[in-house]
Amino acid sequence: MEMTENWAEKDLKYIWHPCSQMKDYEELKPIVIDHGKGIYLYDTNGKKYYDVISSWWCNLLGHCNPTISEAIKKQVDELEHVIFANFSHKGAIRLCERLSKILPEGLCKFNFSDNGSASIECALKMSFQYHYQAGHPEKVKFMSLTDAYHGETIGALSVGGVDLYSKIYKPMLMDVVRVQAPDCFRCPYGKRRENCGCECFEHAEKAFQAHGRETAAMIVEPLLQGSAGMKVYPPLYLKKLRAICDEYNVHLIADEIATGYGRTGKMFAFDHANVSPDMMCLSKGLTGGYMPMSILVTTQKIYDAFYADYNSGRAFMHSHTYSGNPLACSAANAVLDIMEDGSVLNTARENAVYFNNMIMEKFASLKNVGEVRHIGLVNAIELVKDKTSKESFAPKLRTGYQIYKKALQKGVILRPLGDVIYFNPPLIINREDMDYVTDVALECTKEVLAG
Ligand SMILES: *Cc1c(COP(=O)(O)O)cnc(C)c1O
Repeated sequence: MEMTENWAEKDLKYIWHPCSQMKDYEELKPIVIDHGKGIYLYDTNGKKYYDVISSWWCNLLGHCNPTISEAIKKQVDELEHVIFANFSHKGAIRLCERLSKILPEGLCKFNFSDNGSASIECALKMSFQYHYQAGHPEKVKFMSLTDAYHGETIGALSVGGVDLYSKIYKPMLMDVVRVQAPDCFRCPYGKRRENCGCECFEHAEKAFQAHGRETAAMIVEPLLQGSAGMKVYPPLYLKKLRAICDEYNVHLIADEIATGYGRTGKMFAFDHANVSPDMMCLSKGLTGGYMPMSILVTTQKIYDAFYADYNSGRAFMHSHTYSGNPLACSAANAVLDIMEDGSVLNTARENAVYFNNMIMEKFASLKNVGEVRHIGLVNAIELVKDKTSKESFAPKLRTGYQIYKKALQKGVILRPLGDVIYFNPPLIINREDMDYVTDVALECTKEVLAG
């Protein structure tokens, strides 16, 4: 009997959930989802949830989107998987052809993996090997921003800079050149991100002067440092990075795993800067949140440095069993079918203005709201203890977590990053739902702050 079965109990008997202190589940049981539709999820008791975090930022066009579901159903009866070395299939070929037409100029060679972190590992290894084969064996280091997030595997964690995820593993990690990231909310130069000159780029300049020669690649989350608390910085920073990377013969790797596919209001965050990276990692929105897949896209120049007789040993000997999985490719092609004519992005862009205005109106005047920041439909509200000094709440109060729990009771999934409450909804969210989720978030925030 489904109704009487205690799914949450049984879950806890077996499952070790990701990124969780399992003891927290004593108080907050796992929510067992039965089905989804659009931006809504429904649990086994029939309770409805607004998924305004896109199920970890990957759901792009709603749960159980009919177009994507149909595409996968059709594919599963034709071909579920095939080895991707020496073999190929139409879905992958078609996907790359389509992506090459919309990606920033010069990105034209596609290397498939099955999750975001794996594509980051690919990028780091590929860059290292490129320089080695191009006669620069001294280029062995990587550069990244403080507060960066690039995934959880050892290489990806090494270039990441969020202590919560990496601190304990430090002895296992690579030594990375860390560049102080832009911090527009607490800008040390007293500027505003809308019109600054990226004065903070001096940190990058110093790092390149000291380490540029021995650096293979610089990796960034363009415009939006997601896990850092949805920190937003200006496109000018990317332009400057492009220039300095060229000067020092350093690859620029764009981690667009979170920012790609319209999250920032354009198809890719790099589109805001009008420059191209040497490599771009895509995942999350790539399959609309349906199937695990990632792609590292790179240039002809980098590809050519690996192209030689087999015995020269120049091949990129990296693979994953599920590379280029046909089911994932069918989902990714369906996402492009939906987004191709630009109407989804146009509507999302218009709604983004409405959404941000509403959030500003509701939250900006609260005494503990330090900043409301936004890009595309992503909106973040940073709560602080003191608005003037911008001092944070003590982490052990877990203010964000208290708000998260309250909002869950009311059927809204917020999952704050520390004390940063954010919305990163599917692009198809409508205005009525925006009204509702911001009302609930406001109510819960006020209750927790008052308590
Ligand atoms: C999620 C994410 C990753 C890691 O992707 P996984 O599929 O979770 O391994 C890397 N970089 C960024 C910016 C991300 O948001």
